[in-house]
Amino acid sequence: MNRHVLITGGAGFIAGNLTHHWCAAHPQDRVVVLDALTYAGNRATIEPLIEADRIRFVQGDICDRPLVERVLAEEGITHVAHLAAESHVDRSITGPGAFLATNVTGTFTLLEAFRAHWMRAGQPQAWRFLHVSTDEVFGSLEPTDPPFCETTAYDPRSPYSASKAASDHLARAWQHTYGLPVLVSNCSNNYGPYHYPEKLIPLALVNGLRGQPIPVYGDGRNVRDWLYVEDHCRALELILTQAEPGSTYCIGGRNEVANIDLVTLLCDLLDELAPLHGVTLPVSPSRELITYVNDRPGHDRRYAIDAGRIEADLGWRPQVTVQEGLRRTVAWYLTHQAWWEPLLPKVVRQPTGQ
Ligand code: NAD
Repeated sequence: MNRHVLITGGAGFIAGNLTHHWCAAHPQDRVVVLDALTYAGNRATIEPLIEADRIRFVQGDICDRPLVERVLAEEGITHVAHLAAESHVDRSITGPGAFLATNVTGTFTLLEAFRAHWMRAGQPQAWRFLHVSTDEVFGSLEPTDPPFCETTAYDPRSPYSASKAASDHLARAWQHTYGLPVLVSNCSNNYGPYHYPEKLIPLALVNGLRGQPIPVYGDGRNVRDWLYVEDHCRALELILTQAEPGSTYCIGGRNEVANIDLVTLLCDLLDELAPLHGVTLPVSPSRELITYVNDRPGHDRRYAIDAGRIEADLGWRPQVTVQEGLRRTVAWYLTHQAWWEPLLPKVVRQPTGQ
């Protein structure tokens, strides 16, 4: 079957990587990206695919029901990978309204539009709607707690995670109530190319490259489970093409690292790799730039994922170690200044977090 795939948020970090991945892995599939190009969206991420006429790009809001219906019908969409979202926890604390609009109302709008489209087509068995979510819906772990898994109770703590939790519930309700072939995934922190330079890893790198302070929240001992974005894209591809409708999968890298250890490693990699790319760092060693700042309100202490179900059901395993993934990421930011530099005026001037 030739799929007609709609990727929402495809000018953002993960969905941008997924768009590149899907086009390379499935050259027969029609791919359409719907993205509002908020501050976090960057058309440059997918410009080569647009110019090559490999994808159709539609600039628009997922809350715009007539637009969503038109795209679904015009393109005969059979598969939706829904990643458009407001995604930055710090921004959700200062302005939660946009998170409810996009993450909750936007997801509702997509589900309803896709349901109508699927009903009109006679409820095809092979169609799918993948709702991509986060491990932050599960709350925070103590150091010795077992990792989150698919049966962990929801306990969101920030406006961001609460809005994502709400959208997960909507997605599952549309599966149970209407039989819509919905899938849900909850993933740990991603890193890699095309990551907006406001999040922990890219901000550390661009500040290191510019000789500016690299802020670390609190005592730096908050722990995250890091996954290279390409491994996440492979997981999403497997779920969208092979999973049973109604399934939920947790995705994680089994790479728990404290923020301060991660930032220190990034500084060392920057010092090592910059000369190899002909880049002179304004401050070296980069560790001198690390600056502790007041903690974020309600900062979750630890996230970790047990990815046993997707490993057993779909044979997925992360393929990129954190050492290798971070090297690739540092090299990418060293060689893609033209991508990140124009974004800097829009980066909020506050401490970093993920
Ligand atoms: P991002 O902020 O980099 O990109 C979001 C994209 O959505 C942007 O291109 C933006 O323009 C677009 N967008 C925002 N509002 C829109 C709207 N109303 N209509 C259309 N487009 C809109 O996000 P990301 O970090 O790549 O995250 C993508 C998804 O994956 C999100 O749902 C997020 O919750 C989830 N997720 C992210 C991570 C992570 O580590 N980044 C981890 C797990 C899950």
